[in-house]
Amino acid sequence: MDIERIGVVGAGTMGHGIAQVCAVAGYQVVLIDIDPDQLARGLQAIERSVEKLHSKGRLSDEERQAGLGNVSTSTELEAATGADFVVEAVVEDLAVKTGIFTQLDELTRPDVILASNTSSISLTKLGAATKRPTQVIGMHFMNPVPLMKLVEIIRGLDTSDETTELALALAEDLGKTAVEAEDYPGFISNRILCPMLNEAVYALMEGVGTREAIDTVMKLGMNHPMGPLALADLIGLDILLSVMEVLHEGLGDDKYRPCPLLKRMVAAGHLGRKTGRGFYDYGSS
Ligand code: NAD
Repeated sequence: MDIERIGVVGAGTMGHGIAQVCAVAGYQVVLIDIDPDQLARGLQAIERSVEKLHSKGRLSDEERQAGLGNVSTSTELEAATGADFVVEAVVEDLAVKTGIFTQLDELTRPDVILASNTSSISLTKLGAATKRPTQVIGMHFMNPVPLMKLVEIIRGLDTSDETTELALALAEDLGKTAVEAEDYPGFISNRILCPMLNEAVYALMEGVGTREAIDTVMKLGMNHPMGPLALADLIGLDILLSVMEVLHEGLGDDKYRPCPLLKRMVAAGHLGRKTGRGFYDYGSS
């Protein structure tokens, strides 16, 4: 199948980044979100990022033009109707995602692949919500999408070889390195990363160290580019909490229990950078 038009559903942290890399690579992108403000913010973020990468010489004039010109937006899922490939990047909520997959299954041509950027939700479950489970796959981009090289490709139980090959080829065409993972809770990346971030929140809650001490130990001692609390703020504390819940429930081991302080931060609406406050303050978002 030739891919020309890509639908990206969800214009938040990840969705606008995915839309950007697809547009820069020359695809026509329709970016869809129920919230018009998110669409406006997403477009602004794409413009800022494209201009910055261009000014640093990391995008050619042609890529800049494509990045700025190839994205249209809509608040209606129906706008995905003409897409040749869809990447879903809405909130990490099983009910919301299955609802979207069921609708996309009705709206799009039967040969279209429906990919999800989920951090932890089972692709097998999302596939089962459609009549095309062979064409449902995980394409797990990393944050920030334009800068991070990795895309984890996750096969559901029924995902076909053909779908997997197409998703791998698309990821490579977007300039990414794709790695395959099986559909177990958290896949590879979040199975390892999120328990470490959660443990950093425990260390903070128990007073083992200040936020600065915890982050400095991991940066200078372990050579991580960011400390775990700053990284949790970047990822979004609601996302981290929902991944820990999926790991806890899916693997049934108490070592994955979400830290109570993480739950309190999410309950208070302090979700990290996107709300202007998490473990650190970022001013207004
Ligand atoms: P976000 O909260 O920044 O954005 C989610 C967007 O989904 C919002 O703009 C919201 O308006 C929109 N939305 C909600 N319901 C919708 C619906 N029914 N139809 C259309 N749009 C809807 O979240 P995010 O950080 O971009 O995460 C999106 C997905 O990517 C999640 O599945 C998350 O697990 C995954 N992910 C996140 C990261 C990260 O670092 N943030 C990394 C990898 C994967």
